Amino acid sequence: MTSPALDLLQSVFGYSSFRGQQQAVVEHLSEGGDALVLMPTGGGKSLCYQVPALLRQGTGIVVSPLIALMQDQVDALREAGVAAAFLNSSLAAAEQREVERQLEAGELNLLYVAPERLLTGRFLAQLERTEVALFAIDEAHCVSQWGHDFRPEYRELAILQQRFPQVPRIALTATADPRTREEIVERLSLQNARQFVSSFDRPNIGYRVGLRHNAKRQLGEFLLGHQGESGIVYCLSRRKVDDTTAWLAESGVEALPYHAGLDAATRAKNQKRFLREDGVVMVATVAFGMGIDKPDVRFVAHLDLPRSIEGYYQETGRAGRDGLPAEAWMIYGLSDVVTMSQMIAQSESADERKRVERQKLESLLAYAEATDCRRQLLLGAFGESYPGPCGHCDNCIAPPKTWDATVPAQKALSAVYRSGQRFGSGHVIDILRGEETERVRSLGHHQLSTFGVGADMDEKQWRSVFRQLLAAGLLEADAEGYGTLRLTAASRGVLSGGQSVKLREDARPERAARRRRDSKLVTGGGSLGIEAYEQDMWDALRAVRTQLAKQQGVPPYVVFHDATLLAMLRALPTTEDELATISGVGEAKLKRYGRDFLAVINAQE
Ligand code: ADP
Ligand code: ZN
Repeated sequence: MTSPALDLLQSVFGYSSFRGQQQAVVEHLSEGGDALVLMPTGGGKSLCYQVPALLRQGTGIVVSPLIALMQDQVDALREAGVAAAFLNSSLAAAEQREVERQLEAGELNLLYVAPERLLTGRFLAQLERTEVALFAIDEAHCVSQWGHDFRPEYRELAILQQRFPQVPRIALTATADPRTREEIVERLSLQNARQFVSSFDRPNIGYRVGLRHNAKRQLGEFLLGHQGESGIVYCLSRRKVDDTTAWLAESGVEALPYHAGLDAATRAKNQKRFLREDGVVMVATVAFGMGIDKPDVRFVAHLDLPRSIEGYYQETGRAGRDGLPAEAWMIYGLSDVVTMSQMIAQSESADERKRVERQKLESLLAYAEATDCRRQLLLGAFGESYPGPCGHCDNCIAPPKTWDATVPAQKALSAVYRSGQRFGSGHVIDILRGEETERVRSLGHHQLSTFGVGADMDEKQWRSVFRQLLAAGLLEADAEGYGTLRLTAASRGVLSGGQSVKLREDARPERAARRRRDSKLVTGGGSLGIEAYEQDMWDALRAVRTQLAKQQGVPPYVVFHDATLLAMLRALPTTEDELATISGVGEAKLKRYGRDFLAVINAQE
């Protein structure tokens, strides 16, 4: 089947087919309809408005809140031979005038603008004098007052419908939550827009969660499977970021720090290196990531629990936007659970808000401690039912063993209760194990009926029980921050014997490592499965890409994505005609780069 949209997709972008709902969106918009598009990160939202903008008469106006991103997007479009430009405060006055002239002369296919610029009376008047192909409102969740990225100017974008009733509008977001969707419809007057809702599954991301025993050693082992690849390592505190960066750098990993405590110039420099160089690992707090659309991030690692499932999904979603295999890896421990509950309890928020936060923590812990398919659980958290098991998360690949912990749980809860709900897990475990410590004696706890009833289990096993009881909401940490444990309303069901408790058996680190080596969890040749005999050619292709990117002053992925490079590696095209059939090689790029890449392939063959 051919159509003008498909022809354009092939000749300009070098792709042979649309993905998911792209084609439906493109057709709807090209025919003048309004659309609301919900697609996960990496789903391919940009083509949904870029292709119709090229098919329709006039200029497509793209509203984007992320000034830093406009440059890259415009660079990428120009590489593909599209007349694109942006208008924002980073341009000098003369440059701005030139873009405005091009707009009025009808020379642009696409123009990216910041919302505050779009809304000026002057610019709106200018638009009225030009032919507008469509309005695309990117990151449309910025209209939501309840979200993290609220932009007051976004609310005024409803004016577009009043001033330009004939021009089709498309709003796009990767935020799945239904309440945000309603707000977008209402605030942007999109009641008549057709909604295109995609699955939020990210099939190319493998999810893995483990217990933290020795963060550095575990991270080191994890990174062995990702040598020379770009990735992000998230930490809770600035200090841990600095620490981890220093340690990685010493171990020979190309690691850079990013957190709000660094000055703006250093942050910008580190971010630029992450975007422009191959294989940089960014160690960061959550301050990093918004608006990073580097396609070839191969892994996202969390060394601490994130704040919520939504946050976790957003952060891990930065991996593998190009659709190639990527990994989301997290380690956490009992102390995280205690710290997080304390942070919530101590916060100044109203009770209502605290309740919401506690629920968020609980669903995150349920995810971390899950024994079933993690993808199923994640998508379930966004109201999407996934048939599962996915076969591609740690629990699917190596199902964890579970055990009936009803009796130990009863003993633990009872020991907490009998010692007065005033102690942390360490002391309660001493009581259970029958340790006559000084503290136990001075408090008379060796006389409790629970003293020594848990001597059959070692301290590590007990810590695992307490962690999982906290995660399951059968215990809670105190608000004051001493780490003392209390029963909850849910504890009663267990203590009375009505409710059984099933816990996961914590894998011993050595055994877990061996199991990973034996399973699909660690692949040779990194995420992309480059075989040893292919390595030289792969390095040569990457080197010529880096060199061409440097010459143009753009990131390497703007020249060609890894997916395109990988397709070249596998097909080894030796002529321009063969190269043209590789996905991602459009006419403009073929003309500009074809010779250089063919030279590399023909030299090594
Ligand atoms: P989003 O904005 O939804 O996060 P992008 O528009 O940046 O996603 O697209 C993600 C990646 O997928 C980009 O590298 C893009 O080139 C690629 N892509 C999008 N659509 C297609 C397609 N139909 N065929 C091949 N690659 C595609
Ligand atoms: Zn799974």
